[in-house]
Order: sequence, then C-alpha cells, then structure tokens
Amino acid sequence: MDRRDFFQGAAASAVATGLAGCATPAGTASARTPFAVPATYIPIVGSDEMFPVRRIYCIGRNYRAHSIEMGSNPDREPPFFFQKPTDAIQFVQAGTMPEHPYPPLTKNYHYEAELVAALGKGGRNIPISQALDHVWGYTLGLDMTRRDLQRAMGDEKKPWEIGKSFDRSAPIGAIHKVAQIGHFSEGAIWLKVNGQLKQSADLKMMIWSVAEQISKLSEAFEMFPGDIIYSGTPENVGPVVRGDVIEMHIDKLPNLTVKIV
Ligand code: MN
Repeated sequence: MDRRDFFQGAAASAVATGLAGCATPAGTASARTPFAVPATYIPIVGSDEMFPVRRIYCIGRNYRAHSIEMGSNPDREPPFFFQKPTDAIQFVQAGTMPEHPYPPLTKNYHYEAELVAALGKGGRNIPISQALDHVWGYTLGLDMTRRDLQRAMGDEKKPWEIGKSFDRSAPIGAIHKVAQIGHFSEGAIWLKVNGQLKQSADLKMMIWSVAEQISKLSEAFEMFPGDIIYSGTPENVGPVVRGDVIEMHIDKLPNLTVKIV
C-alpha cells in the first residue's frame, strides 16, 4: 500500500469509527466540504486504533556534540523548537523498507535520528515532575533536513521552513504505548547508511530530557493530545543520496528503515 492509499484508508476507517474529529478544530468534524483533506494517523502497536497526529514539534540541538557541530555553544543555549506540518509524516512499518523520495531543491539532504514522544494529554505550564504523565507512547523517527536550505535561510535570518518542514520530511515508526514499553531516559540510539554506522549515542546524552521538553513547550504553546515531539538528534548528521538505505535504531524499539529514491 503506498502512502496515499494508506492515509485515505486510515481517514475512511476513522470516519467510520467516529474518530474524524480528533485532530481537527472543534466544530469542523461534521462540516460539509467541497473536497476531502485527509487527517494524519500513525498505527499503534498491538491495537487496531490509530494515533491521531495534531502537531509535530521538534527540538533543535539537544545533544551536546551535535550542538557543537552545528556551531552553537551547548552551555549557553536554551532549548528551541520548530514544527513540521502534520502531513510530513511518512509512516514506516517495522520490517519493511519503503521508498523515501529525495526532495527537490537540495544538494545536501541529511538524516537526523530521533526518539519521538507522543502525547495523550495536554496542558499549559506543565511542571517537569508531571510532564511524563502526558506521554501516551513513543516511537522513533527521522527529522529529514535539506541542510543547504536550512543553513542558507539561517544565514539570512529567515525562517527554516524550507529546510525542515517539507513533504515527507518526517519518516516515523508505529507508536508503542507507554503502558507496554515504559519511558526512555537512556539506551542506545544509532543510525546506519548502507550498513555503515554514522550516528551512535545514548539517549541519556540529551541536554533537555523528554519531561523538560514537554514542560518548556507548554510554556510557549498549549499542548494537546495528539501532539508529537521529535526529541533531537545526536552528532554526526550527514548526507544521503538516491539509492542509499537508512536504518535507525533505539533500544527497545524495532528498527526503522527507508530507501532514498
Ligand atoms: Mn532534529
């Protein structure tokens, strides 16, 4: 099943089961519309329910060595966040190797391997001590980046969108419920290209923990169920070209694999 079929199928089944309003503003679920716009869902491991995605938040420079390689001082910089559009999601089923299209306009297309937290409860000004109660599940994902465009826009003090927030820039695995898999404060995270190790670190090297990220985000935005957070990448990001195979791993989760085409 390709992505279009997958999401159309998901949207159709969600309508049938009454889930359609989950990720849409109040009052729009039953609106008559001139055409259909699919909502975004991620499969849940061990369930026939789908996780409805409301927003995709990403934290920047959350591992010391990556922060240094990107030209920042990790001791001074507070966390910062950006978003990807919800339909940037490319679901990747464990044990499969779907094609990931090399995007237009770039000559320096980078991988970033990241833990992803998925929220089941929202709020404002969430204390760090309660933040993990808001996590519904976890998975792993790639924050794919048109690095040349990101850098060029950064140099001109313009928004990052074109480098970060483009079509299919968020490959992601199925969601594992916290109740079954627990929380992630440590464990190996690695990424290989064509079998060669490129990124290798431990989740405990994060500058800001998942709980701290949720707390900080909730100072700036009201958080809602369905929000997901890409928690940052370790050092040694780098480029891929057409034909490359990316495999990423986080301890306790099945690996995620895509082929660049
Ligand atoms: Mn990232």
